[in-house]
Parts: sequence; structure tokens; C-alpha cells
Amino acid sequence: MELLDNLKIKPTSKIIYEKIRHPVTKRMTSVLNGTRFFYMNPLEEGKYLPRENTCAGLRVRLYHYGQPKVQRSLLCTNCWSDDHTRQFCINESRCKVCKKEGHMPGDEQCDAFEIQTNITAFSGTGDILSNFFPCTFDVYGITHQSAEHAFQYTKSIRCGDLETASKIKEAPDALSAKKLGDKVRENDQWRESKFAVMEEIIENKCVQMPMFKEKIREAKRNTVFVETTFNGTWGSGLDRKGTVNTKQNMWPRKNKLGEIISKIAKKLRKRKKSYQWSRPKSKQNSKENTRQRDIAQMLRDLRINSDTDSVSGYNASDTDSSEDAQPKAAATTQT
Ligand SMILES: [Zn+2]
Ligand SMILES: [Zn+2]
Repeated sequence: MELLDNLKIKPTSKIIYEKIRHPVTKRMTSVLNGTRFFYMNPLEEGKYLPRENTCAGLRVRLYHYGQPKVQRSLLCTNCWSDDHTRQFCINESRCKVCKKEGHMPGDEQCDAFEIQTNITAFSGTGDILSNFFPCTFDVYGITHQSAEHAFQYTKSIRCGDLETASKIKEAPDALSAKKLGDKVRENDQWRESKFAVMEEIIENKCVQMPMFKEKIREAKRNTVFVETTFNGTWGSGLDRKGTVNTKQNMWPRKNKLGEIISKIAKKLRKRKKSYQWSRPKSKQNSKENTRQRDIAQMLRDLRINSDTDSVSGYNASDTDSSEDAQPKAAATTQT
């Protein structure tokens, strides 16, 4: 009853208790099972009750006619209210960012309007930064046709759906791969690891596709990569115009893919920097080399002393020229 009160439901009938049938005789017993029935007045158009509930610490499932099979969180993509879907919306359309009427995200009237100058926006199959861009590369020993293929394939494998995984591998394009992968039920392990998996996939793409690597390496230090899609997790939640003209902290979605690419770009810059730093280091090396040369000289002297050598397996012709001796000595001290 407490649950019904919480959900503001008034049953119009008594609550009927279902009983268990005898497993052998199939006759109704007097033992009650966990199911209850009642009648209630119809809900307003477009509204329905949540399927999953808790009451007094117990999980309670509610079912009724017209309830959608898959429990979606209600969100109207026209007015952005959270108590109905677009299909049943009777309101004026509102801006997704500031929730005011009369304009769209990226319009000058928007409270969050600001032209972004430090972003690299990407989306779609024609953009190499996008996961939908067709390109062949290997991840975890499997060759994929796009980063999206790789991601959805890995998801299916890790969530135990091998049949879908093999379909994804053969999917003709990234969108088909995504549609297949979207149907795979996520498990907790996948939910926790998917960001790390995505990062690994993008790193693999970066290593195996010089064009992609070049594109992110040439970006400025303060560049923010952003995927301009409505995707809740990976994109900005806005189209290109909306993204480019909206303050970054007002983007409705998390832009996780953009963050991953920014992170890899940073790593690339660091690597480039350490390469530059390695030059003064080579001076240090030359100091080391002189020390090695001294050792080589010492060995030569030793050999001359015991002329008919084969001391310590050294071949006379090898150590004769100091140029040969140098790298050899260096190699042995390094290991
Ligand atoms: Zn609405
Ligand atoms: Zn607005």
C-alpha cells in the first residue's frame, strides 16, 4: 500500500492475491504466491508506471497494459521535460541547453551562446576522427573495419554474446555495427571497463593509421576534441552548430570520446617532447662512450699482453678496430 501511495495510485478494486497451483494435479492450492492484482483508473495519455520499484526493502515489479517493455527514462526531446515522451508533447519546443523557448542551441539568443575557438569538432563517416570512419586496423588480434566495429565487437564478446559479435565483425558499415551492438545487454564489468577499452581502440587506430595520428598531433595544446553527436556518453549531445556556439560547460552530454582523443593527443605531444629532450642526453651518452672506449682499450691491452689469447671468448679481429669495439662494449654494459 505504501508503494501505491508513493506512486499516487488509488486502486479501484480490492487487491487480489494469486495462489500457487499444485505442481502435479495442477489444481489451485490455498498457498499464496508473490503476485497481486488490482484495477485502477487509466493513466493520462503517454504516462505509465515504472516497472522496477522497491518497497520495504523488497524489489517490486509493476506491470500494466500499455507499459513499454523496455524501461526508458522519460525525456521529451521537444520540450526536455522528464514526464512524457516527444510523441505526446503538447508544449512549444525548447532549447536543449538553456531550456528556453524560441531558439535552438547555438543560436545567439541562447543563454549559453559563445563561439568556441579552441575546439576540433568531428562526426560522421567522412571524418577520420570519428569512430564511424571506415578504416581497417587490428585490435586485440582481430581486424576491424572501423573503430565502431572494434568497440561493438569487444562489447559483445565481453558481455558473452558471441553470435552478435560475429555479425558485427561482418557488418557492412559502422552504423550497422552500432545497431547490432546496441542490442547487446551490458553487464557490470563492461560498464566499468568500456572507457578503458575505447581508449585502447583509439590508441590502436592511432598507431596503425598515420593519417589519424598526424591529425591529432598537429592540434594545438589547448584544443578540445569534441564529437558532435546526440550520444549521451560519447558526444556533446548537440549538433555541430550547437556545439561550436555553446559554452563547453553547458554541453548537455559528456563528450567522452573527445576526452579520450584529447588524452591521446597529449601523450603524443609528450612523446615528441621527450624525443627532443633526448638530444642533450646524447651528449651524456658520448661521455659514456668515452668510458666504454677506455674499457675497450683496456681489453685490447690485456690481449696484447697475453698474445695467443681467446680470452673471455673475444675474437681478435673484432676488437682490433676501435669502431667495432665501441658498440659491443656499450651493449654489454647496458644489459
Ligand atoms: Zn515535451
Ligand atoms: Zn538556449
